Amino acid sequence: MSTAADNPTADIQAARKRLVLGNWKMHGGLAGNAGLLSDLRAGAGILADYCTIGVCVPFPYLAQARQALQDSVVSWGAQDISMHEQGAYTGEVSGAMLADFGCRWVLAGHSERRSLHGETDAQVADKARAALAAGLTPVVCVGETLAEQEAGRTQAVIQRQLEPVLALGQGAVAKMVLAYEPVWAIGTGRSATPEQAQAVHAAIRASLQAVGAAHVPVLYGGSVKASNAASLFAMSDIDGALVGGASLVAEEFLRIAAA
Ligand code: PEP
Repeated sequence: MSTAADNPTADIQAARKRLVLGNWKMHGGLAGNAGLLSDLRAGAGILADYCTIGVCVPFPYLAQARQALQDSVVSWGAQDISMHEQGAYTGEVSGAMLADFGCRWVLAGHSERRSLHGETDAQVADKARAALAAGLTPVVCVGETLAEQEAGRTQAVIQRQLEPVLALGQGAVAKMVLAYEPVWAIGTGRSATPEQAQAVHAAIRASLQAVGAAHVPVLYGGSVKASNAASLFAMSDIDGALVGGASLVAEEFLRIAAA
């Protein structure tokens, strides 16, 4: 019998609920967060039957997120995780520390971590593994650059990025969330078209299916707004969104979740 520990996103899959996660990036402050979190808390309740909502906040605000969101339908998480359990890793934050703050989610391999901090595909897989070991759900991000897209290499790049993650095996992959985020669409205002995104999501789904994890939610990220969310969510393999800029405005973020 499958349990929540085997499949932590079973609640999302059961009703084919959408999963909408915000990535605040390095934005926020105690005073502004308080209003944003309380608006999310107040507005998310009526969406809970068909959408799971979460926010991935900067590390220093995890305690604030927990306090503001506990006993609400909005879950929270972090934007990065150390691949190590503990030790002499100055500046890093372990999975156990994130679990201490009630995190449900943690991003692994966001394109800004890959490009600005040189995270490799293997390290991203190690981070996903560390998240699972701490009882967190890793949201593994993949996506091609503009140059790679223009060279017709999108599918090859995604498969390369996925390879070490899928190599963790069915038991691990089944507990993850994946996010397809074309780098050229992140923060640019230029989203992939629903058809472009669907083509990549279908290929990701096929790879998941090949390891027996077809049910894993696959989110789209890259300039998602209230105005384009519904057309993206209408695609058969798009299970929700990872939202950057638009997650900083409660009304816009809730409108995406409502789409
Ligand atoms: C992101 O940071 O993951 C993201 C998708 O950003 P944006 O929505 O601003 O493009």
